[in-house]
Amino acid sequence: MDEDTCMVDIAKFFLEFTVDESCGKCTPCRVGTKRLHEKLEKITSGNGTMQDLDELEQLCYYIKENSLCGLGQTAPNPVLSTLRFFKDEYIAHVRDKKCPAHVCKSLMSYEIIADKCRGCTACKRACPVNAISGEVKQPHVIDKSVCIKCGACIQKCKFDAIVIK
Ligand code: SF4
Ligand code: SF4
Ligand code: SF4
Repeated sequence: MDEDTCMVDIAKFFLEFTVDESCGKCTPCRVGTKRLHEKLEKITSGNGTMQDLDELEQLCYYIKENSLCGLGQTAPNPVLSTLRFFKDEYIAHVRDKKCPAHVCKSLMSYEIIADKCRGCTACKRACPVNAISGEVKQPHVIDKSVCIKCGACIQKCKFDAIVIK
């Protein structure tokens, strides 16, 4: 893991595992892990609030204290440890609506810097949904309403004219 890893996304990844593995015998684990996962999904899709962060933490402790076995008692740990050490990333997701690692697709967009664009058309030809327009040797533009954030254009640009914001 490095700066290109989204810690909220990582917490969600671990929760997906525990939701699948929960045997369902006790409610805190069976239902609680699902609710935790839903909150993380809400945050990574750009709909989270500061209140969700507080509720996320409270729910983690409730699940830890009331689950019957080790699975439920440890399931919230990835959320708690990322909240503890990477709270700034959570706050960026809910307050600034940004994913600092550029992992959460709902919270990022691709843009062409006009001053750097040479109008080579490479990105336009690579885009699978025709989201890029522009004439040869003229700055190109990405239509964000059409872009599916596949990343194909940024790989083709030899002039570092495309950025993720
Ligand atoms: S905490 Fe253990 S017993 Fe309870 S639902 Fe989860 S896996 Fe089953
Ligand atoms: S990210 Fe993909 S869909 Fe969006 S403009 Fe670039 S190539 Fe097109
Ligand atoms: S590939 Fe880069 S330089 Fe070429 S048109 Fe696209 S943004 Fe401009």
